[in-house]
Amino acid sequence: MARDYYGILGVEKNATDQEIKKAYRKLARKYHPDVNPDDAAAAEKFREASLAQEVLLDPQKRKVVDMGGDPMEQAQGQPGGGFGGFGGGGLGDIFAEFFGGAGGGSRGPRSRVQPGNDALLRTRITLEEAFAGLKKKVTVDTAVLCDRCSGSGSASNSKPETCTTCGGAGEIQEVQQSFLGNVMTSRQCPRCQGYGEVIKDPCTHCGGDGRVKKRRDITVNIPAGIGDGMRIRMASQGEVGHGGGPAGDLYVETHIDRHSIFERNADDLSVTVRVPMVDAALGTTVELEHLDGSAVEIEVEPGTQPGETIRLAGQGMPRLRSEGRGSLVAHVDVFIPTELDKRTRELLEQVREHCDDTAGIHSEDSGETSFFDRLRGRFRR
Ligand SMILES: [Zn+2]
Ligand SMILES: [Zn+2]
Repeated sequence: MARDYYGILGVEKNATDQEIKKAYRKLARKYHPDVNPDDAAAAEKFREASLAQEVLLDPQKRKVVDMGGDPMEQAQGQPGGGFGGFGGGGLGDIFAEFFGGAGGGSRGPRSRVQPGNDALLRTRITLEEAFAGLKKKVTVDTAVLCDRCSGSGSASNSKPETCTTCGGAGEIQEVQQSFLGNVMTSRQCPRCQGYGEVIKDPCTHCGGDGRVKKRRDITVNIPAGIGDGMRIRMASQGEVGHGGGPAGDLYVETHIDRHSIFERNADDLSVTVRVPMVDAALGTTVELEHLDGSAVEIEVEPGTQPGETIRLAGQGMPRLRSEGRGSLVAHVDVFIPTELDKRTRELLEQVREHCDDTAGIHSEDSGETSFFDRLRGRFRR
């Protein structure tokens, strides 16, 4: 979100440079780190006020602010740029003066043209779409090249002029009074923001930035078999950099909705099939509609037990990095009727009389594999 630079200094939107400087001096006297050692909140207020003054005294940056943008958002955290430490003449610079070389100047002006940032976008797809793959239209909101100045930042396409404040060095040296006595500090030139050059007539469309925010639709190619949370890289579709610098990449992160029937486990799909008790005993065929609408037949062998799994190799998700498909794993849930009509009850009682199976607990010496043995066998696999 754009910072309220006017609000930080407590000045009106039409404030003159003199009013801005006056408001800044008032705040600086109150919050300067020399006055408030070890006070992090004061240091932050001082840093904010310095930043606000720098932005509002710069016609280009002030224009960006008046257009609802934040000219410092991009500059911060970029190599060679930004606004470190306490801004104008903080403690960092004082120590640099003691331990570093005299007068600084080693950094030099930074390039006007900066590489753009990468951008990240999230999109949701269904499991059916992940199964088949698709071309999906997504809306991206990033900085694109300003078409009015083609990234030069200048209204007349004239070349930027060397900054007269810093002589093109990108930074200026100042003598400051501090508790250590008079010290020489160097800081980023507030007029050219360290670029060493100034655009005389900034492009009114982009405020001299060389790029503008724009919403556009692009098509992402989502491959069949994509995993949940995977990112697809689209080279040079990210943000265009300051001064029309080369665009970063766009990453599209794909999230897959839960499916009501199929559960995905890497390249495998699992599904639960409910088989009536009699069908489990006699065997049956269960027909299932797959993710692509095709019919899959699952053979349930006679004597299938509850909780058994039937694996259909090559019927799972397409593999993303190799040929073929994973497995479809059907978990058998045997359905036992809870209410019996008279006829069914009679028939089942006949079945019971015919079979001599008795209910009980399997034990080791019964000759059969016990339930616990089978369970252990399953864990051992
Ligand atoms: Zn422009
Ligand atoms: Zn300068």
